[in-house]
Amino acid sequence: MTHLRLEQLRKHFGATVALDGIELEVQPGEFLVVVGPSGCGKSTLLRLIAGLESPTSGEIYFNGNPISNLPPQRRDVGMVFQNYALYPHMTVAENLAFPLRVRKVPTAEIHQRVRQIAALLGLEGLLERFPRELSGGQQQRVAVGRALVRSPRVFLFDEPLSNLDTRLRMEMRAELAALQRRVGITTLYVTHDHTEAMTMGDRIAVLEHGRLLQVGRPAELYSDPAELFVATFLGTLPINTIAGVLDAADGTLLFHTRDAALTLPLEPDILRKQPPSLPMNATLAIRPEHVLPSSEAQVQLTVERVEYLGHESIASGRIGGSVPLTMRLPPTAELTPGTTIGVRFDRTGMFLFDADGNRL
Ligand code: ATP
Repeated sequence: MTHLRLEQLRKHFGATVALDGIELEVQPGEFLVVVGPSGCGKSTLLRLIAGLESPTSGEIYFNGNPISNLPPQRRDVGMVFQNYALYPHMTVAENLAFPLRVRKVPTAEIHQRVRQIAALLGLEGLLERFPRELSGGQQQRVAVGRALVRSPRVFLFDEPLSNLDTRLRMEMRAELAALQRRVGITTLYVTHDHTEAMTMGDRIAVLEHGRLLQVGRPAELYSDPAELFVATFLGTLPINTIAGVLDAADGTLLFHTRDAALTLPLEPDILRKQPPSLPMNATLAIRPEHVLPSSEAQVQLTVERVEYLGHESIASGRIGGSVPLTMRLPPTAELTPGTTIGVRFDRTGMFLFDADGNRL
C-alpha cells in the first residue's frame, strides 16, 4: 500500500495560481476526498500526481520517494475521469484487458485478471457486450475496472459520478467506497459535491482557490469548521450566516447584527481563541438543525416560508426584522407563514468567524 505525500505543491498557469502550496498526506489504503467549487484546482492536483502536468514547485512522494521526475507510465496510478471514455469498438472484456495488453502481460494472466475484476465489479454477465449496450452505471464500473485491473499504487478519481443520474450516483457512491475498502488501494477522489465528500471519504480536504483550508474526518469538518468557507460548503442545507459586530460589555460577549436591531449574548467558550480586539466585525454561523423552537427564546423568528419534505420541514424567515434565518423542523411541526415563533440557538452548531473568514 502506498503512502502519498504532497509537499508545498504549487502550479501556476501564467498569472493563474491553480495550486498554492499544497501540503497533504494520504495514508496507505485511505480514501481521501478533495472537495471544492469549480476552478479551485481539483483536477490540476490529480493531473500533477498522475504526471500529466509538472508542478511549478514542490514535490510528490510515494512511500517517501519523490516521483516528480517519473513519466506518467512509471508512476503506476489508475485514473478515472469524469468522461470515462471506453473504447467503443471493444467489448467490456477487451476494454478491461487493454491496459494489460499494452504492457505485454501474458494472455493467460490477462484472462485471469479480467475474470477477477469482472467478478469484483459484478460485470461477469456483460463481458461480451459493447459499451453502447451498457447503462451509465455499468459503463462507469467498466471504467473503474480498467483502472483497477493493474492494481495501481494509487487510485485517482476525477468526478467519476457526475454524468450519472441521482439514483445511480447514490448507488455508485456506496459501491465505489465499498470496493475501495475491499482492494485497499490509496485513493484520492475529487468532487465538487459535498454529499459525495461527506459520505465517501475517510477524510475530506477542502480546497478553495488552490489552497487547502482544512483536512479532517467528515464529522470533524462539519462540527468544527476552521473557516467560514468550510462551514458554508458542507451541509445539505446551507448554514445560516449573520454578519455583525462582536463586542463585550460587563464581561459578557455580545454579538450585534449589522443594523444593530438584534443583540445576542454569547457564551465565552464559543471562542476558540481570543479576538485580537473588540469590537470587531464578525460572522455568526448557525446550522439550521441547531435553531430550535424554544419557550426560553433568544430571538423571535417571523416565518415566511415552510417547505414540507416528508421526513422534515424547512422553515425560513427573518429575525430582528431583516436577518434571514432557516431552521429544520420535524415534519409534524405545524407552522404557517406569517407566524412568529421563539427560537434559541444550540451552542454545538454555532461558530464565530472573523472578517477574513477564519474561526474565532
Ligand atoms: P472543475 O470542477 O470546474 O473541473 P477544478 O477545481 O478541477 O474545476 P482546475 O481544472 O484544476 O479546477 O483549474 C484550476 C484553475 O487553473 C482554474 O482557474 C483554471 O482555469 C486554471 N487552469 C487549469 N488548467 C489550465 C491550463 N491548462 N491553462 C491555463 N489555466 C488552467
